[in-house]
Amino acid sequence: MKTTIIRVNHAVFDPEELRPAAEALAGGRLVAFPTETVYGLGADALNPEAVSRIFRAKGRPSDNPLIVHISDLTQLERIVSSVPEKARMLMETFWPGPLTLILPKSKDVPDETTAGLSTVAVRMPANRTALELIRLSGLAIAAPSANISGAPSPTCASHVISDLSGRIDYIIDGGSTQVGLESTVLDMTADPPVVLRPGGVSVEMLEKVIGYVNVGKIPDGVSDTAPKSPGMKYRHYSPKAEMILVSGESQRVVDTINDLVEQYRAKNKKTGVLASAETRSGYIADVVLCPGSRNSPETVAASIYGCLRDFDQHGVDIIFSETFPDEGIGLAIMNRLQKAATGRVIRV
Ligand code: AMP
Ligand code: MG
Repeated sequence: MKTTIIRVNHAVFDPEELRPAAEALAGGRLVAFPTETVYGLGADALNPEAVSRIFRAKGRPSDNPLIVHISDLTQLERIVSSVPEKARMLMETFWPGPLTLILPKSKDVPDETTAGLSTVAVRMPANRTALELIRLSGLAIAAPSANISGAPSPTCASHVISDLSGRIDYIIDGGSTQVGLESTVLDMTADPPVVLRPGGVSVEMLEKVIGYVNVGKIPDGVSDTAPKSPGMKYRHYSPKAEMILVSGESQRVVDTINDLVEQYRAKNKKTGVLASAETRSGYIADVVLCPGSRNSPETVAASIYGCLRDFDQHGVDIIFSETFPDEGIGLAIMNRLQKAATGRVIRV
């Protein structure tokens, strides 16, 4: 299949440039597009055949449901059967934005989209290109991240091209995404609502609007005794290299990682370290990559998937990663690092 790339220049944005891609969506085809979180791989959410194409293109397990993206609140009626008051308040505060709400589904949403569940995940992305594309298509768009299943999510068009070129119809290149991690997923069918995945909207931000939310069993990233979610048995958001997190006081972390680097070198392994700006110069590994400063967790979030992909480009065998405080966006950072490392944490 030929994949057409449409480059969008935000300075002189003309929505008409998106028309061929919008028409492809209406014809049941696949289009990758930028959002503020990561790039999405979109299809008509109410067309089971179109949605099945997403699962085939990504190699995604069919029991993993998709998020339905809308550009206008009036589309909700077609997608969900009811909207509780707390959900309404969150939509008013955080949409468009990186918050996905789980709501009871309408009868029009096919099983393919929700993996047979009676609920559906919905969000309105805060990205002009995404909103115009959805609006022009006249559809609700089911869109998981636009990567091969299991790989780190794509935060720029080149990531999508390397994973999905030849497998989908269009890729819209809108530059780098801003948040860099996936949306927060909040189950609104429970009261208090339950965070199923931490993301761009922090628990602290949610609680300011609706009071207590249940953070469930999200691993904290620094505790060996953290309960493991069922998904932890799969590799998620992962580079090809093996990954191990090292947590503790910063100089001890640097010393421990350098010892580990020497041990792996003795076994002829190429080593990588994911380090914050504050400590990066202390490492002796073959490849040291830095997603940003500890003072700017938003920057770390935005860069982390790009770093994981870069380690693979460098061909490292093993990545040692520092950990980050799990408040604010840090909870989402640690959730993704934990999954990339399949839960392996060394405490020092
Ligand atoms: P992705 O689009 O690849 O970032 O993944 C979407 C996330 O939302 C996955 O973790 C899904 O399991 C979750 N999700 C989607 N729909 C539902 C739903 N109806 N109930 C619970 N989780 C959902
Ligand atoms: Mg994904």
